[in-house]
Amino acid sequence: MEQKTIGLLGGMSWESTLEYYKNINQGINKKLGKHHSAKIAMVSVDFEPIEVLQSSGIWEDETAKILSKAAKQIEAANADFLLICTNTMHKVLPQIEQNINIPILHIADAAAEAILKDGLKKVGLLGTAFTMEQEFYKERLQSHGLEVVVPQKEDREIVHKVIYDELCLGITKESSKKEYIKIINFLAQEGCEGIILGCTEIGLLVQQEDVDVKLYDTAAIYANKAVEMALG
Ligand code: GLU
Repeated sequence: MEQKTIGLLGGMSWESTLEYYKNINQGINKKLGKHHSAKIAMVSVDFEPIEVLQSSGIWEDETAKILSKAAKQIEAANADFLLICTNTMHKVLPQIEQNINIPILHIADAAAEAILKDGLKKVGLLGTAFTMEQEFYKERLQSHGLEVVVPQKEDREIVHKVIYDELCLGITKESSKKEYIKIINFLAQEGCEGIILGCTEIGLLVQQEDVDVKLYDTAAIYANKAVEMALG
């Protein structure tokens, strides 16, 4: 079977990009067997300048430039379509899209498709403060008819801080895991039928067996969708 080449815009952080690379290769091998592995064109950016721009609060234009340049390199390496391996940076997807001719698969569309397949309507969203508080991500989910709930302010601060100070640096702490589980359970009590792990590193901390409510790990869902599209 002829496979398409998957474009990966990674490095945000590399801790989760590793998982994409592994999951996509495993997914392709599961389908095709033998020694088959994925055809991938990847550019992994330096996360530090991006993180500095994000925390400065005015990051759209500059980060869009960095990511558009990387996306062009991926296109030049003959990728058939592109994945932006972070939820947060989907904020600048419209700018990246203008600079390339290959399609970009939106991570929130992939998540929404998985949730709707399970027949759910009301979901909780965990991610960076940008993802939880700004409209670019929630609106995309809502456009699929989903009702999206985010944690209260103090909980959003905990979720955000753990992502940048721990998970993006490869640190997983038992105390942070407990905090996340508490926040997830609180959202479930508020009527959320499922919880979107809307940051690609959260799956490194919390897994389905830790909670009763159904989790939607965007990193895993995005990787599965890429495999499906590659084998289209
Ligand atoms: N990987 C994270 C996400 O999915 C956060 C890092 C970033 O800001 O890109 O949103």
